Amino acid sequence: MKLDVNALRYLTKDEFRVLTAVEMGMKNHEIVPAELVDRIAGLKHGGAYKNMKTLLRHKLTHHDSSKYDGFRLTNLGYDYLAIRTMVSRGLISGVGRQIGVGKESDIFEVVTPEGETMALKLHRLGRTSFRAVKSKRDYLKHRNSYSWLYLSRLAALKEYAFMKALGEHGFPVPRAVDWNRHCVLMTLVKGYPMVQVKNLSDPAKAFDTVLGLITRLAQHGLIHCDFNEFNLMIDDEENITMIDFPQMVSITHRNAEMYFDRDVECIFKFFGKRFNYSPPGIKMLKGPSDAENLDDDEEEGDGRPDFETVAGGEESLDKVLEASGFTRKDQETLEQFIENAEGEEDLSEEEEEEEEEEKEDDSENLQAENVDNISNAGGSFQKLTVDDRLDEEIDSSRD
Ligand code: ADP
Ligand code: MG
Repeated sequence: MKLDVNALRYLTKDEFRVLTAVEMGMKNHEIVPAELVDRIAGLKHGGAYKNMKTLLRHKLTHHDSSKYDGFRLTNLGYDYLAIRTMVSRGLISGVGRQIGVGKESDIFEVVTPEGETMALKLHRLGRTSFRAVKSKRDYLKHRNSYSWLYLSRLAALKEYAFMKALGEHGFPVPRAVDWNRHCVLMTLVKGYPMVQVKNLSDPAKAFDTVLGLITRLAQHGLIHCDFNEFNLMIDDEENITMIDFPQMVSITHRNAEMYFDRDVECIFKFFGKRFNYSPPGIKMLKGPSDAENLDDDEEEGDGRPDFETVAGGEESLDKVLEASGFTRKDQETLEQFIENAEGEEDLSEEEEEEEEEEKEDDSENLQAENVDNISNAGGSFQKLTVDDRLDEEIDSSRD
């Protein structure tokens, strides 16, 4: 998918004002009545109506007249608001190609005014599963469709806070530069997701590094919870960088041990399968007959770190995280969402069509394209400029 930010350069101050008004209206309205948009925008002579048409034409809003005449933001509309803020803060000046797509995010190359290429992650929580959750859970009852904005924003804040805290404590992660709404700006990792790597010159070293990260996280009170070959980047010198933090939990979580063991298991499995590597003293299991031949002792002492033994000890990062504005309550909200969303999908036909329209491309094509293009980073960027006079007003919509 190409994120077409072209119109961003041409949208007027008033059009952005109206787009922000739609965003604000969504805090209490599934579909924001046109009159309310007009009132929030506060433009003279009903000027907002003309602007609503322009926004609709650029697919920044979606029109719904089933109950009354109203609008809601599209993904693209929300993207525009966040990107515009990043531009007006002087952080980015161009958007390039998409470099990653996950279940719940899109990642783009962006360029800074100084010419440095960085990564912009746009969180899209609830892209596929939110509506199903909404119908079953009441904890978000009063948030309605605002929830996808709210949850994506929480995920971005969490990712930013964790990335910053981890970086400050010496973990190999991208540098967290800034965040706004559902977007996180971070440095670009020069490397590939480990899933694309066929051989390693030193699998033992990589294995120790990776397993060491899991235990060091636990010492600092954290579990990654999605620690696998998709979220570990490796470069030509086989340096490893860890990414993707919205699902991390504390070692005090009731399922902490299970999550910890699952992260460890992912690494053992992947290194065994892909590089035919297992740490010394550990028998590779080639089939069921091997498993039968293991006696109980061998099954116990399997080389996997023990959660109880490693967890805690070092300075816990919980406090550092709260200081960044990501609260325990936020953590609970996200956890509830993530746990409930797992494996659920329940869209009506109409909703599915809409999702398709907004998503535009299918991720498989993109991933294939990624493999080809991975080394020619730093391609072309769509240039961005904004009308600075609006900056304060747009920023004031952050809550
Ligand atoms: P998700 O939560 O959707 O899985 P990730 O953070 O794992 O999102 O990013 C998805 C993909 O995007 C990664 O597998 C990687 O290929 C790419 N990517 C993410 N962050 C960066 C970065 N900072 N530098 C380079 N590539 C990145
Ligand atoms: Mg990922």
